[in-house]
Amino acid sequence: ESKRLGRGQTTLYDAALGERARQALRVHARLQAALREDALSLHFQPQVDVASGQVHGFEALLRWTDAELGVVPPGVFIPVAEDTGLIGALGEAVLRMACRQMRQWQDEGFTARVAINLSPREFLHPGLVARIAQELQRHGVPAQRLSVEVTESAVIDDFATVAEQLQALVELGVEVHLDDFGTGHSSLAWLKAFPITAIKIDRSFVRDMAQDASDEAIVRAVIGLGHTLGCSIVAEGVEKPEQLQRLRELGCEAYQGWLFSPALPAPQAAALLQR
Ligand code: C2E
Ligand code: MG
Ligand code: MG
Ligand code: MG
Repeated sequence: ESKRLGRGQTTLYDAALGERARQALRVHARLQAALREDALSLHFQPQVDVASGQVHGFEALLRWTDAELGVVPPGVFIPVAEDTGLIGALGEAVLRMACRQMRQWQDEGFTARVAINLSPREFLHPGLVARIAQELQRHGVPAQRLSVEVTESAVIDDFATVAEQLQALVELGVEVHLDDFGTGHSSLAWLKAFPITAIKIDRSFVRDMAQDASDEAIVRAVIGLGHTLGCSIVAEGVEKPEQLQRLRELGCEAYQGWLFSPALPAPQAAALLQR
């Protein structure tokens, strides 16, 4: 391969690779510091009931502004954390912050649900379920308030151990939501293997559903499939009223998206609950 590219292009390719590796190393080093210094925070994006328009919960999304790197989006640092093994510590920090926030809202008289994202790799480390149970208990938060969002992923080839952990979470009372549904290569296999309580339709299908007949057909089919399997449906990335209107007609239960609100710091998120 590389011979055919010729010498100059090989060098360019190497340089680009080297630059990416250097950037990943920097992100890794700064992320390590951020974890030590508690510099990461969670923002909360409302999940809204389609029928009533009420906020019934939030998705917790990591936010990080680094002194040297500036704002680093999760799309950049999560993959680095996954590749370097930092995801374990990061996941623990997210769980801790989410439970602390739920406890605070509880003390203030709110009963908001919170969904945290789990990286598929977190299932490969032992003790995940015990850690979740322990953290909920330590904060005095009922497991029924927590959901975990899992994404289908090629790193999981051992379905049995993941299924076991998700089953244990469901038995605790935690809901399991299948994130970015339809974008992986084994969506249906995941749906079959795991105890999924809700399906999140990826925003790539929601985006054009009001104009594109095949996207609309996919959304309709996913909603039908999900309902047949006893799952509720959450639509991601709803930006336009006409998308929400179609989702309502198709029987989708809940949605998230900029149409209602982006992810917000906890106090602003709580203000939406009061409204
Ligand atoms: P995700 O779990 O699918 O989260 C939804 C993403 O869509 C979020 O991006 C959210 O800000 C964005 N979004 C929400 N509404 C809209 C909309 O109307 N339009 C558009 N264009 N985007 C919208 P974000 O916060 O950048 O996170 C990206 C991904 O990073 C997440 O995708 C999730 O996979 C990962 N991530 C974020 N926080 C965590 C975390 O605490 N742990 C793990 N393991 N992954 C996380
Ligand atoms: Mg998610
Ligand atoms: Mg998603
Ligand atoms: Mg996504």
